[in-house]
Amino acid sequence: VDDKNRVQINRGFRVQFNSALGPYKGGLRFHPSVMLGTIKFLGFEQTFKNALTGMPIGGGKGGSDFDPKGRSENEIMRFCQSFMTELGRHIGEHTDVPAGDIGVGQRELGYMFGQYKRMMNRYESGVLTGKGLTWGGSRVRTEATGYGAVYFVECMLRTRNQNFDGKRVIVSGAGNVAIYTMQKVASLGGRIIACSDSEGYIVEESGIDLELLKEVKERRRGRVSDYAKLRGASVVFKPKGRVWDVPAEIAMPSATQNELTGQDARTLVKNGVIAVGEGANMPCTPDAVRIFLENKVLFGPGKAANAGGVATSALEMQQNASRDSWSFETTEKRLSEIMHGIHDRCAQTADEYGAPGNYVLGANIAGFMRVAEAVRALGVI
Ligand code: NDP
Repeated sequence: VDDKNRVQINRGFRVQFNSALGPYKGGLRFHPSVMLGTIKFLGFEQTFKNALTGMPIGGGKGGSDFDPKGRSENEIMRFCQSFMTELGRHIGEHTDVPAGDIGVGQRELGYMFGQYKRMMNRYESGVLTGKGLTWGGSRVRTEATGYGAVYFVECMLRTRNQNFDGKRVIVSGAGNVAIYTMQKVASLGGRIIACSDSEGYIVEESGIDLELLKEVKERRRGRVSDYAKLRGASVVFKPKGRVWDVPAEIAMPSATQNELTGQDARTLVKNGVIAVGEGANMPCTPDAVRIFLENKVLFGPGKAANAGGVATSALEMQQNASRDSWSFETTEKRLSEIMHGIHDRCAQTADEYGAPGNYVLGANIAGFMRVAEAVRALGVI
């Protein structure tokens, strides 16, 4: 019910794809583009991604075509409560453990967790991940997907005796994944030249001021155009065109699916890109992936490169199960070890199957084999 007392109807989904390795696990997305097909492909990918982490989690995904943009705090709360009223009966810490995704952050998870607790009369922390630190969340979960993607790219670069230091880097998006990707890249000496949101992109040759960007995006819920206005002449805001036209050595698409096309890949290659790491889920079209592979660009597919988020969610489940809370350092160290493990598993599998350096093939086969072996052992699908 909106603030004018009108009933609004939205459609919600939860696709429980595979639970051979552990409870179904995957995020919830609130975005007007959400439909069954989106959730199914994300759940399919999630199953193999989760397997690749080496942790005991199955695969699923969910969401709704609800658009949180322009909604009041109370409208968002009421939607989250309604959504959980139905979803609640399908999930549980041993059954299915949703998390956040596009449009679902800590605020939304809080309203959903509150409603679940009210309905079940149980403080079942392990039913949702991505929770706030004061109510069962894990340190590093907010940073995990972005940090993890950067660790993965760092591992790929190392295979060619390269690193982030002094490299020009473009990140698309300016949401959770993008912001913490930029933060980790900057800490490793990389220079973030450009980022974007759905209204356009900004270019700042001297490097984007991350504290100001975080203030605008996280605290004021503003746009990258607002950042450009505050920053003045050193920044160019482009409402049209492609962020991928900006010359860079490393590209990290971190907004949404299909945002980097074959044409964009050709432009990046022409401009000398050496590594591409998918922070988002399937941001590069199949054409773009082919072009990167043909041109020997180091390419980290999302199901490997962005698995740090779900891996840290699994660490959150471990902490919840033991009613413990780990320090930032302990948790980040675990994340870093997991990302190195994923990288090595992909690289070794690619070698084993005669395609050295092909992380797409390595990730697909390694993820699939782990699920298939569990399904065979359990005798069920
Ligand atoms: P957020 O909602 O925090 O941010 C998404 C960002 O992408 C925003 O800047 C948004 O801009 C932009 N964006 C969304 N749709 C479009 C579009 N059609 N065109 C251009 N820009 C767009 O989401 P997250 O950062 O959490 O997620 C980003 C991606 O990473 C998704 O693909 C998600 O599935 C994936 N992912 C996220 C994980 C996580 O832990 N958060 C884990 C693994 C994968 P605007 O604000 O203008 O809409």
